[in-house]
Amino acid sequence: MNYVSTRSGAAGVRASQAIVAGLAPDGGLYVPESFPAFSLRAVQGMAEKPYADRAREVLAAYLTDFTADELQAAAESAYARFDGPPAPLKDVEDLHVLELWHGPTHAFKDMALQMLPRLMPLAMRKTGVDKQVFILVATSGDTGKAALEGFAGVAGTQVGVFYPVDGVSPAQKLQMITQEGDNTHVCAVRGNFDDAQTGVKRIFGDADMARALAEKGVELSSANSINFGRLAPQVAYYFSAYADLLKKGAIALGDEVNFCVPTGNFGNILAAYYAKRMGLPVGKLLCASNANNVLFDFIEQGVYNANRPFHKTTSPSMDILVSSNLERLLFELCDRDGALVSSWMQALKSGGRYEVGEKVCRALRESFAAGWADDEKALGAIARVYDACGYTMDPHTAVAWSVAENYRSVTGDRRPMVVVSTASPYKFSRSVLTALRGAEAVEALDEFACADALEKVCGLPMPASLRDLRAKPRLHNDVVDPAAMADEVCRWVG
Ligand SMILES: *Cc1c(COP(=O)(O)O)cnc(C)c1O
Repeated sequence: MNYVSTRSGAAGVRASQAIVAGLAPDGGLYVPESFPAFSLRAVQGMAEKPYADRAREVLAAYLTDFTADELQAAAESAYARFDGPPAPLKDVEDLHVLELWHGPTHAFKDMALQMLPRLMPLAMRKTGVDKQVFILVATSGDTGKAALEGFAGVAGTQVGVFYPVDGVSPAQKLQMITQEGDNTHVCAVRGNFDDAQTGVKRIFGDADMARALAEKGVELSSANSINFGRLAPQVAYYFSAYADLLKKGAIALGDEVNFCVPTGNFGNILAAYYAKRMGLPVGKLLCASNANNVLFDFIEQGVYNANRPFHKTTSPSMDILVSSNLERLLFELCDRDGALVSSWMQALKSGGRYEVGEKVCRALRESFAAGWADDEKALGAIARVYDACGYTMDPHTAVAWSVAENYRSVTGDRRPMVVVSTASPYKFSRSVLTALRGAEAVEALDEFACADALEKVCGLPMPASLRDLRAKPRLHNDVVDPAAMADEVCRWVG
């Protein structure tokens, strides 16, 4: 299997090359030349297998220059770091909730960011890269910690993370600034996530910077979901969810299942689309947004318009106006016309807006539906579901829950619905406790008191690594303007 760029028809590269590079040289994203097919029988076979085996089977179809043994060993050691089954499926009222936050940093990013650091050294060896790989990350909160945790101590790599200074939750920030490890770097950016992401993209596109780094024996790569090595492990949990529905008798083999995904950079839901293209019986993919509903408007109208107010919400990991991975979907929907994708991305860069036309719109709406929920709706859903059955959701999951419920009542679509749950409630204790106990009860409490109070209310044990944050030294305290990000990277590289 070779990988091609979404922006050109240039000859493909191998999976290991796509993983080491992160971004294609023309600024596009790497995508597989074709979608590997999975038979229903293969899906059925997964029902009796542990998660690591399910993941290895999906990865083997994409990462064809890795051996089955390499992928199996990587998956086993990655998912051994989870506090139980990595992707359990819970029945909550008449929906199914796919919990993807049982990894070391308690957000779904661990599903891929425990795998990528295990794939990267293998990929470097396969491509003959003997340089240091510097993993540069822009984060809306969860990717940063997951990348730091994944790459800390991995030989031949360094990892540097930029986060928006006031754009992450207190727990997310503490997780990052207390990160230990000689090869880890963290810095706040004055601005929002889009400013941080744009700054990182600028560094990737900076030829002088690349030359200066090359002289020092350093090559940049990405752990953001623009890296195909992030995307591939995410495809696996959609297969896993389907296999678990089969196993518990909730569906028969071949029945279509809908997935509702709380969406920011469009990586998670894109993985669901890949699963569908591989033959998994998927009905509708519901793209759930918060008040930053640029994707909702796009799916409804075919116009992507990032020129709009940026809202800070209780689901900060979805506070994004420019969703990078949408580019990969557009490439598929326009029959892989790289020149057309390029023109849209150029228009986005220069004017913040592009329009895809009726044909692409129709293809889009065949697979996708969209909805959005503001903070009030999301926090309302947390309270309602908790009162009804004692299940506690984080605010991102609650956005998806609210959108899924609304979709079902409006459309009457009764196919089984899986709501993808992306974070532990303890990463957003204040918001969750506010939903359950009201703003006044929370006002006087600091972040840790909120977490303690939440533990008494929701009964879910607080993860030890989050409890331990209060005592950890704050190691990374730099704050820079977006224009100074490149200098910061130079300092890190030394
Ligand atoms: C990253 C993240 C999302 C958004 O996922 P994308 O792949 O960027 O669409 C949603 N919820 C949480 C908790 C996240 O960390």
